Amino acid sequence: KAKKDTQSRYRFYETEMEDETSWRLGMIRSLVNDFNHGKLQVWYQPQLNVKTGRFDGMEALLRWPNSDGGFISPLIFIPLAEYSGLIVELGMWVLEQSCEQVKKLEQLGLTGLRVAVNISMPQFRNSNFVQNVIETAKKYEVDPEQIELEITESVVMDDPKLVIIALEELKKNKFAIAIDDFGTGFSSLSYLQQLPLDRIKVDREFIKGIGEGGDGIIAETVISLSQKLGKETVAEGIETQFQLDFIRNLNCDVSQGYFHAKPMPAEQLETFLLGQLPDVEP
Ligand code: C2E
Ligand code: MG
Ligand code: MG
Ligand code: MG
Repeated sequence: KAKKDTQSRYRFYETEMEDETSWRLGMIRSLVNDFNHGKLQVWYQPQLNVKTGRFDGMEALLRWPNSDGGFISPLIFIPLAEYSGLIVELGMWVLEQSCEQVKKLEQLGLTGLRVAVNISMPQFRNSNFVQNVIETAKKYEVDPEQIELEITESVVMDDPKLVIIALEELKKNKFAIAIDDFGTGFSSLSYLQQLPLDRIKVDREFIKGIGEGGDGIIAETVISLSQKLGKETVAEGIETQFQLDFIRNLNCDVSQGYFHAKPMPAEQLETFLLGQLPDVEP
């Protein structure tokens, strides 16, 4: 009896795994297909320079429209793109779009803006990665200092040596480097000083409860750590005035979150940023 149970349970899992695998393959197939048909979009979320009170940068975020007018979450499709290797091509496309956008904003009079682009592990494993990034910036005539490459702790921990070498090469070429979702990963504290970082992004998780019972002790500690290391700090997921005041009091440099703006399509970003153009006296 016990054996039979085990067997049927095993078969149950097996079917579930087959379903899971075919679901994944189906998703990957339609992601590739939609990408090849130009259906993917890059949206941008403005970043507020807390010191100057101006939006001086943005994060590029991939958007995959689904059939009913909504979007499939990057939290679902990015892992699939990584797993399938598509992220190598997809990631370069996001970088190209971002460079093109920065150039376009410049032509509209919005100069010196910085764009942050998320980079996944398979991209680092591609031996042409660093060269491709350098060439893309050149092709679009974008100053590398305006391009910030965001990597998560898990990328660093996956293959520290490989990642550090690539980042140092990128840093030598003046690209900006940020560590994303800091504090949620695999304790990359030991690598923090070895990485050529410009910025540390405090994960939304540590901002979330502030003003609603949460004390913000972790956010405060990460910001302080970042400052002691001489890095700029970006707070992610700022949703309230209270949270903005909280991080401003800690001298956090950059604020990104729904309180200021949600990620938006390129045309909307232009309107958003142009809206703050007049720097003239009233
Ligand atoms: P991330 O890089 O940490 O990006 C920030 C995420 O937080 C975005 O989610 C953004 O929409 C969301 N967010 C920003 N402010 C707030 C806020 O105030 N409240 C809340 N609740 N959320 C906020 P999104 O666009 O869904 O992206 C999720 C993740 O997918 C990203 O996290 C990043 O890890 C990955 N991702 C997105 N685009 C790309 C890409 O082009 N390449 C790679 N490799 N990963 C990407
Ligand atoms: Mg990011
Ligand atoms: Mg993040
Ligand atoms: Mg995140």
